[in-house]
Amino acid sequence: MYDYDLVVIGSGPGGQKAAIAAAKLGRRVAVVERGNMIGGVCVNTGTIPSKTLREAVLYLTGFALRDLYGASYRVKSEITIADLMARTQHVVGREVQVVRAQLLRNHVDILQGTASFLDPHTIRVTGAGRGDNSTVTAEKIVIATGTRPARPKHVEFDDLHVLDSDGVLHLDRVPGSMVVVGAGVIGIEYASMFAALGTRVTVVERRDRMLEFCDPEVVESLKFHLRDQAVTFRFGEEVSRVEVSEKGTVTSLASGKRIPAETVMYSAGRQGVTEELNLREAGLESDARGRIKVDGNYRTAVEHIYAVGDVIGFPALAANSMDQGRLAAHHAFGEPARELAGLQPIGIYTIPEVSYCGATEDELTRSSVPYEVGVSRYRELARGQIVGDTYGMLKLLVSTEDRTLLGVHVFGTNATDLVHIGQAIMGCGGTVDYLVDTVLNYPTLSEAYKVAALDVFNKIRALDVFAPAPAPEPAVTSD
Ligand SMILES: Cc1cc2nc3c(=O)[nH]c(=O)nc-3n(C[C@H](O)[C@H](O)[C@H](O)COP(=O)(O)OP(=O)(O)OC[C@H]3O[C@@H](n4cnc5c(N)ncnc54)[C@H](O)[C@@H]3O)c2cc1C
Repeated sequence: MYDYDLVVIGSGPGGQKAAIAAAKLGRRVAVVERGNMIGGVCVNTGTIPSKTLREAVLYLTGFALRDLYGASYRVKSEITIADLMARTQHVVGREVQVVRAQLLRNHVDILQGTASFLDPHTIRVTGAGRGDNSTVTAEKIVIATGTRPARPKHVEFDDLHVLDSDGVLHLDRVPGSMVVVGAGVIGIEYASMFAALGTRVTVVERRDRMLEFCDPEVVESLKFHLRDQAVTFRFGEEVSRVEVSEKGTVTSLASGKRIPAETVMYSAGRQGVTEELNLREAGLESDARGRIKVDGNYRTAVEHIYAVGDVIGFPALAANSMDQGRLAAHHAFGEPARELAGLQPIGIYTIPEVSYCGATEDELTRSSVPYEVGVSRYRELARGQIVGDTYGMLKLLVSTEDRTLLGVHVFGTNATDLVHIGQAIMGCGGTVDYLVDTVLNYPTLSEAYKVAALDVFNKIRALDVFAPAPAPEPAVTSD
C-alpha cells in the first residue's frame, strides 16, 4: 500500500539508527537527506569535525606534552588552517563513507533532497535533480532533522568576521584574537581549542557561571587552565552590538566595555530544523525553537510519526540520538524494547576535557543524601606522569550509608572515556568496595579509581570510629 514501511527524514545519528533498526526487522526503509549531509550535523558540521579539530590542535601544538618537553614544545611552529582542516576533512570523508555503507549494506534507500509533508503519509522530496514532484509514501515516518545554530536577529553574520559554530570550519586563517559569545558546551570547547592555538580569546556569557550543571570544583579547574592560556571571561555581560570593519570587529557590551577582535564566534543555542517540513500538512507543529513534542516512545501527536534526536530538544547529544532512533523504530514496528538506563554521562571536549556521570555534590546536598568524597590526582599516578598530565583529577561521591557509588567527576586526559568505568559500577548498583577489592592495570589512568576509592574508604572508616557501639545482647536467663 505504501512505497516504504518507514521513511526517515535526516541521516544524523538518530535517523541512521532508526533506519538501520527498522531494516534489521525486515522492513523496507528509505532515508531522505540533503545532498552533502550524509551523517547529519554530527558527521559534517558538529561532533566529528569539532572533535577531530581538537585532536589536530592537540597534536600540532604539542600542547599536552609541554609539561614533559617544555613550554616552547611544538610539533609545527606555524600552524595554518589548512593543517587543521586536512585532518578534519579526512575524518569527515571517512565517516560519511561509513554511514553510507552501513545504510546501503542494510538495503536502506538513500533519497537525496529536502523532505516536506504533503499529507501525514506522503513526503515530497525536492532538489538534487529530482524536480519538484518526487513523492514517497510510508506507513511510518521518523523525523530526525536536527538543529542549526541560532543566529540572534540583531547580529549581522558575514561568515568571515562574525560566525557561528558552522562557520569555524570555514575560517581562512587561525585568528589572532576571538570573542566567543556564549559559554555553553560548544562555545567553551571552541574557546579552549583556539586558546591552545595561541588565539587571545574573550568569552562573553550572560549568566554569571558557566557549565553550571557540572561539578563546581572541576569547572574552577577548567577556568584556571583557560585563564592560564590567556582566555578572559566576561560573565554576567550582554553583547549589545558587533561592529565589523576591514580591520576586524569590535564587540560592545551592555556594560559599556568594547572588545576588539579579529573574529567573533556566536554560540547562542540551536534551533530545530522544521521550517521546511511543512509540518501542518502532517497535522503537527513545532514550538518557537523549532522543536517537536514527543511522548516516552518518541511518538509525536500523530500516531505513526515519530521524532528523535536534537529536533526533540534535551539532551541534544549524538550519543542519545542514536538510542532514540533505535527505540522509535522498535516501537513503530512492535518490537519489544527496554527503556534506556537513567544514567547519562556528560562529556565536554574542552582542552583539558571534563566528564561526569551520576549525582553532583550540590544535588546530593540539596536532597540531604549523606556522602563522602574520594579524590585522586593524576600527578600521583605513574601514568599521569608518563603522559605529562599533572593537573587531571578524578572524584568519587560515595554514600556513607551503604557505600554505593553516587557520582563520578573527571577532569583531564581521557576523562570522557574514564567516566564509563564509574557509570558501569553505578549502573549495576555497585559500591566503592568493588574498586578497593579489584586489581587494575598499572600504570593506567584508570588507577585513579583505585586511589580515589581508597581515599573515600579511609574517610568513611575514620567516621566508623564514631559510630555508636552496638547495643549489648540481652542476657539469656534460664527459668
Ligand atoms: C559543534 C558541535 C559539537 C558537538 N559535539 C558533540 C559531542 O562531542 N558529543 C555528542 O554526543 N554530541 C555532540 N554534538 C551534538 C550532536 O552533533 C547532535 O546531538 C547530533 O548530531 C544530533 O543528531 P540528529 O539525529 O538529531 O541529527 P543531525 O546530526 O542534527 O542531522 C540532521 C540531518 O537532517 C537533515 N535534514 C534536515 N531537514 C531536512 C529535510 N527537510 N529533508 C531532508 N533532510 C533534512 C540535515 O541535513 C541533517 O543532515 C555537537 C554538536 C555541535 C554543533
